[in-house]
Amino acid sequence: MLESLGRRTILSLAASPRVGRMVRRYGPAFGATRFVAGETVADAMRAVAAANRDGILATLDHLGESVADRRAADLAADSYVAILDTIASAGVQSNVSLKLTMMGLDIDRALAVANLRRVLDAARGHGNFVRIDMEGSPYTDATLAIYRELRGAGYDNVGVVIQAYLYRSETDLAALDPLRPNVRIVKGAYQEPAAVAYPAKADTDANYRRLLKRQVERGFYTAVATHDPALIAFAQGLAADPQAIEFQMLHGIRPGLQRELARAGHRVRVYIPFGTEWYPYLMRRLAERPANLGFVLKSLVRS
Ligand SMILES: Cc1cc2nc3c(=O)[nH]c(=O)nc-3n(C[C@H](O)[C@H](O)[C@H](O)COP(=O)(O)OP(=O)(O)OC[C@H]3O[C@@H](n4cnc5c(N)ncnc54)[C@H](O)[C@@H]3O)c2cc1C
Repeated sequence: MLESLGRRTILSLAASPRVGRMVRRYGPAFGATRFVAGETVADAMRAVAAANRDGILATLDHLGESVADRRAADLAADSYVAILDTIASAGVQSNVSLKLTMMGLDIDRALAVANLRRVLDAARGHGNFVRIDMEGSPYTDATLAIYRELRGAGYDNVGVVIQAYLYRSETDLAALDPLRPNVRIVKGAYQEPAAVAYPAKADTDANYRRLLKRQVERGFYTAVATHDPALIAFAQGLAADPQAIEFQMLHGIRPGLQRELARAGHRVRVYIPFGTEWYPYLMRRLAERPANLGFVLKSLVRS
């Protein structure tokens, strides 16, 4: 039954304010703790240290997106600057991932760019790196344009994400070639219409392979972000130099495989989200794998 509840249904339910109120209220019971490291920076740093002990790098995501006022956007940038300072002083192996709508993109593009620059300056001061996550397709143009703008301004400590479910992605990658970009390739987590994204998973997977192959063939350092064993095996077969790619997976998903790849000598990075704004993130994780609802229901019964 749960399997028949599709990704679209879950993402549509997630947009309902009533469902949102209920899930937020019963957050831990809804399984938030499996996918989110906790609410505080201290919780996040504990998860980073644990990953590092297993030979796994991290990227920290301070959860938040679609902020609606300038002050919230400024505070989000402040929090990333503080996180970068904490990473440096703790001496742990982690960079950060952020969303441009958290930096203020919905309010004012210039505000988002100014906030991102502040985070990039802090990262540069520590010799660290910032990944701009990719959001839904209404943001693809703006996100790629801002990435280019900042690379043009001399920031080389920034990377971007390309989603294999979008038809446009190969063209987008080709346009970035002169920058020798550090791209994280993902399948894509948002609800997209068939006009812009492959409706069938098999087509997304085939496109993922094409995109990954073209980046590796060009010698561009690439983050292979997936839990899909077939794609991981494909990536292993592609890269003659294992250090030319890094595998990335999400906190709480396939931890055994993460450790196995790290033990085999691959660079592995775990994406560690933390903070109070976990609701949209959790709903995307449930939508990717409706069977997770079974896990959620068990947690509810236990609580
Ligand atoms: C490091 C990282 C960063 C990401 N950044 C972005 C981003 O910026 N923008 C964006 O749109 N998307 C992002 N994603 C999400 C991505 O687009 C996919 O939605 C997600 O990775 C699921 O796809 P998959 O490649 O794992 O393959 P799938 O075919 O969905 O899954 C393969 C297998 O992985 C396991 N699995 C996958 N998802 C789950 C889950 N939620 N719960 C439990 N098991 C699961 C299952 O065993 C499944 O059979 C990111 C993913 C990762 C790993």
